[in-house]
Amino acid sequence: MSFLLTCPNCGVREVTDFGFGGEVSQRPTERPTWRELNTYNYFRRNVAGVQREWWVHRSGCRAWFLAERDTRTNEVLWTALPNAAPSPSPGTAVAS
Ligand SMILES: [Zn+2]
Repeated sequence: MSFLLTCPNCGVREVTDFGFGGEVSQRPTERPTWRELNTYNYFRRNVAGVQREWWVHRSGCRAWFLAERDTRTNEVLWTALPNAAPSPSPGTAVAS
């Protein structure tokens, strides 16, 4: 399924211009336990709904940015560079 994404630097492009970086997750503490490290590396929430994600403009400016996307419909609610990202929308899946 194809959809459009808006690069914060370049504007609207086909999703094939971008690389998916996965859902935003909470990094483990400075000295994580094996369980914390394995959970961080291998477990994803894989929500059916709105989630915050990392994307990279692979075929363009190569910038990493954040997006909120509904995984059921591929509707992209917003994109922003990490320092300009808004607070999570109500009901958005974001690691705590
Ligand atoms: Zn770009």
